[in-house]
Amino acid sequence: MAYHIDTGLIKEKFKVDCECPLCEIKKVVEEQFLHEFLNDAVMEDNTRIKVGKLGFCARHFDMLFSRQNKLSVALQIRTRIENMQASLLNEVKSAGAAKKLADAIDKANETCIICDLTQESMVKYYKTIAQMFEREREFFKTLLKSKGFCMHHYAELLRYSKSAGFATKEYVSLISGLQSRNVARIEKELKVFCDKHDYRNALEPLGNAETALPRTRIKLYGKKYD
Ligand SMILES: [Zn+2]
Ligand SMILES: [Zn+2]
Repeated sequence: MAYHIDTGLIKEKFKVDCECPLCEIKKVVEEQFLHEFLNDAVMEDNTRIKVGKLGFCARHFDMLFSRQNKLSVALQIRTRIENMQASLLNEVKSAGAAKKLADAIDKANETCIICDLTQESMVKYYKTIAQMFEREREFFKTLLKSKGFCMHHYAELLRYSKSAGFATKEYVSLISGLQSRNVARIEKELKVFCDKHDYRNALEPLGNAETALPRTRIKLYGKKYD
């Protein structure tokens, strides 16, 4: 089989009772990269060059900073600042150059080596999930029993659905049905939650609807990590 990544992690996270197993997978992938950037990766010339060129987004800077090994963060962010000093902090001598520099500065804060690496890795997961659908009967059942995905990860699964090969049509039909049913489920839970605020329903049980809003957050925008 041409799997290049941890299919065990996919199987494990698809069995978790959650609104998006891909958010759970992404959390593991991201943590692995954060760990690397706080340890071994700092020492490699190749990585240091990339950190200088791309830097970290604010979110990943905060995540690195909130963990152990502040020295490692300081060393890497110095490399990034040196790179910025060479390309973005020269004297400006004309309005044209000022405009060009302004655009370059805005772009510079959007690049992030950890975002790039995580996305690269996640694409492999999207493709592998499609391949597993085609090749593993057990996984087909697991997928069917899951509660769908956050909208972003649903879009990514659709985007890379061709990896299911000859089973692509069946695969997109299954995931679109799954997503549509599960968004409808959330909508119903929200209705129960809203209805509960009518005094006539005050004694009705709230059930799952109690956590409908935080789970809607995950369904629409993905799980928030820091
Ligand atoms: Zn997600
Ligand atoms: Zn980032």
